[in-house]
Amino acid sequence: MPDVIADPETDPRATYAVDPARVRSWLRDVVASGPPVTTTTPMTGAPLATFPTSTADDVTVAVDRARAARRRWSSLPVADRARVLLDLHDLVLDRQGELLDLVQLESGKARAHAFEEVADVAIVCRHYARRGPALLAPQRRPGALPVLTRTTEHHRPKGVVGVVAPWNYPLTLAVTDALPALLAGNAVVLRPDPQGSLTALAAVALLVEAGVPDGLVQVVLGPGDPTGAAVVGRTDYVCFTGSTPTGRTVAEAAGRRLVGASLELGGKNTVYVADDADLRRAVPGVLHACFASAGQLCVSAERLAVHEAVADEFLGRFLDAVARMRLSTDLTWDADMGSLVGEAQRDRVLGHVEDAVAKGARVLTGGRARPDVGPYVVEPTVLEGVTSAMACRDEETFGPVVAVTRVSSDEAAVALANDTEYGLNASVWTRDVRRGRSLAARLDAGTVNVNEGYAAAWGSVGAPMGGMKASGLGRRHGREGLLKYTESQTVAVQRGVNIADLPGLSGSRYAAGMTRALRVLRGIGLP
Ligand code: NAD
Repeated sequence: MPDVIADPETDPRATYAVDPARVRSWLRDVVASGPPVTTTTPMTGAPLATFPTSTADDVTVAVDRARAARRRWSSLPVADRARVLLDLHDLVLDRQGELLDLVQLESGKARAHAFEEVADVAIVCRHYARRGPALLAPQRRPGALPVLTRTTEHHRPKGVVGVVAPWNYPLTLAVTDALPALLAGNAVVLRPDPQGSLTALAAVALLVEAGVPDGLVQVVLGPGDPTGAAVVGRTDYVCFTGSTPTGRTVAEAAGRRLVGASLELGGKNTVYVADDADLRRAVPGVLHACFASAGQLCVSAERLAVHEAVADEFLGRFLDAVARMRLSTDLTWDADMGSLVGEAQRDRVLGHVEDAVAKGARVLTGGRARPDVGPYVVEPTVLEGVTSAMACRDEETFGPVVAVTRVSSDEAAVALANDTEYGLNASVWTRDVRRGRSLAARLDAGTVNVNEGYAAAWGSVGAPMGGMKASGLGRRHGREGLLKYTESQTVAVQRGVNIADLPGLSGSRYAAGMTRALRVLRGIGLP
């Protein structure tokens, strides 16, 4: 096996160390016979880890192992499975130091933004441990014939769920979609992005410590093709998070096999500051909405609509706050924003800014690379005068760049927000909650946050989260986020008489009797 971790003593470019022995122990059960990949940390650009990858055949072995381990797991009472989630909740909070380091080292984000991932995992654990058993319990349903038909709806696990996760939220997106799948009695084959593999391996080690049986969660490592594609091609349900173009490929592959897939895809999200917004809250709230995780967040805002009545005052304060943001690549709490994940992402973000400026947009603040802070750091950037001729108007930048538009009415703000192929998240700042709710009803977005950027809706894990239009299919969180990992099964027990074959009745007398009975059932208000 190659050296798994870049060692500062032997590789002068490696500046951070993760205990190689621990990483080797995480890799012990990973089926991976393919060529190694090396990742770098965005904090310095230095090598971080080298690990073997999983071929398509390795993924087959992992799926078989997961399927074998599932038999006992799915026969356990759901309360026992829920207890594992509560234990993971405690472990993630207790061991957050190592997780925060890994998330930062792999993604480049600031520590405060890495902490959002730790908190998110704990919230999802608690929610599904407490609410999941009731959602999974068999439910009585009205029978075909009252009293004589006893009908129950059951939720059976799909089998082996494939989770294909991107790099931008390496902890959250590796774990939180797997948790409801496990609670429902499934096994999981997890393919983290190579750039999130250490974090995913550490998290799965905690899952095992929390009581998930050996083999039930298989991690396979490697690029989208072949490793991710092999997971999509071999599992019984696919939970994919990534860009819309890749989501279409995954949907096609799942469709050909007639297995279900939930697709959590891209966004081009608008935040609207209305004329009655509380600017003291709106300024830091919008700043967080745009620049958390350096804008590499599917629900972060890349369009900022500001009502012209408050535009000057809001922008004055907002630009000042943005210009004062502390940029850092340190593993400390002293940063407001960290790095982009790598060179390609930095070049894409700078490319969007250069394209916009070349076509007439104005940079109100930011706009430059900051190699003095880190090789892939780009300043938080606010543009004005962005038009549809510019790439950043409609394409997802996935970086710390937001385009301001002054609007004269709520209608104009809604029109701007809906003028996109995406429909993931929106944010409205207003003192009038009724106005906020009424705007939400007109916004084509899967989540709408009133007086928050994204955290209120994302953190409300009892409610579904996901995208309309090209932002995805299906939902995570809430009832949908659990039951999507199950097959509904209806069991109807018929007592006394057969429904279609009443003894001694001719066809016409059966039809006449049934017609009378149906009229009675309607009359007494039965569902
Ligand atoms: P991407 O689509 O390029 O890749 C996503 C993941 O899919 C990667 O890990 C990649 O290795 C893998 N992949 C590539 N081809 C594959 C294939 N054929 N089969 C299976 N897996 C394959 O996206 P990205 O640039 O890495 O991630 C950023 C994107 O993810 C953004 O568009 C962002 O909005 C989106 N995202 C969405 C959500 C959400 O919840 N809606 C959350 C986070 C990120």
